[in-house]
Amino acid sequence: MARIIAGIGASHTPTIGYAKDNASPDDPAWAAVFQVFDPVRQWLIDNKPDVIFHIYNDHVTSFFMDHYSPFVMGVDTEYVTADEGGGRREYPPVKGHTELASHIGHSLFADEFDISFFQKRPVDHGLFSPLSMMTDRGKAWNEAVIPFQVGVLQYPVPTANRCYRLGQALRRAVESYPEDLKVVIAATGGLSHQVHGERAGYNDLDWDNRFLDLLENDPRALTEITHAEYARRGGFEGAEVIMWLIMRGALSANVKRVHRDLTLPSMTTIATVIYENLSETEPQVIEEHRAKVAHQLDGIGGLDGTYPFTLDWSHRAFRLNGFLHRLTEPEHRRRFMEDRDALCEEFGITREERDLLEARDFIGLIHYGVIFFVIEKLAVVLGMSNPDVYAQFRGETIEEFMKSRNVAVHYSNAGADE
Ligand code: FE
Repeated sequence: MARIIAGIGASHTPTIGYAKDNASPDDPAWAAVFQVFDPVRQWLIDNKPDVIFHIYNDHVTSFFMDHYSPFVMGVDTEYVTADEGGGRREYPPVKGHTELASHIGHSLFADEFDISFFQKRPVDHGLFSPLSMMTDRGKAWNEAVIPFQVGVLQYPVPTANRCYRLGQALRRAVESYPEDLKVVIAATGGLSHQVHGERAGYNDLDWDNRFLDLLENDPRALTEITHAEYARRGGFEGAEVIMWLIMRGALSANVKRVHRDLTLPSMTTIATVIYENLSETEPQVIEEHRAKVAHQLDGIGGLDGTYPFTLDWSHRAFRLNGFLHRLTEPEHRRRFMEDRDALCEEFGITREERDLLEARDFIGLIHYGVIFFVIEKLAVVLGMSNPDVYAQFRGETIEEFMKSRNVAVHYSNAGADE
């Protein structure tokens, strides 16, 4: 089974990424920033984890206020660096671990932590600034990463206690994954800083050190602290250190600290810690948890003609689902009907996918992993009704299908198009 071998805490700041890409470790102005990360890089080389579960917050780069989530996890095969205004950092994509991410998703929901999921979104300095210092070996990433974004910028924000309890659920999630994997839980953010308003530039090294003491030895004390109190002690943006409690919650009650260091070069106290995990959950408890994770969908495989739209399906057919979802845009609809070859080419629609569309093979689309609710949109665009789709699913003529209804009516999603 998968094992959590350690937790890593590391600040994330634009300066870290800037130093990595533009400065030298020998430059006295930047040396301390490199030095706090050196032991972490060495520890990762020595201990070779398979996966880093990487907790971070996005900085209104890939997650905007049009849909803001408290917890959102990546379930993709790879992640690229985001453009934060100055162009993308020149790193190759870091690979993901969709199977473990999917399992963690199911496990967290079983524990009633209802998070959301993302695919095909770039990841900003919240993850890549420490990651590029921690694991870059000539720009070839070794470990897989599962990005876990915490919405700490638009209040309401999860409480410190919620983060800690989420970490405890994360521990069960990782440990109940059947494959042998060495997993590190990395948390980023903080320490003290404030970057907006007249209080910009606020720091408190005493509080930073106190926070690290408590995180290691008495994390529950940190779960009682309000957002306002975190902001008062460590600066408003520094309150993002609550993300470190997710990492701490995923570890044993006592941990072995093998590294701790911090430096304050400019606006943010940059800290790194490594805590080795000292115990694993009892096998019996893990077995019970696995049953709990499977419980909600137990038996669904026995329902003929039924295809639960799981994360795995969502990931597999993301391109085609996304292409059809765009039928909600008038210009995409127009091109779909008038210029389909070029449109399919532009969106990388494969020959197999194209054939399903051309044949209006709705049941084929379902088997392929397309969700019904974009097929319904496709039907409207093609001038077909919902009952036409249902009849085809069932392998019936429309007349046969209508006989099975109380009222024989045709309808589609309502709209003002001709
Ligand atoms: Fe941040």
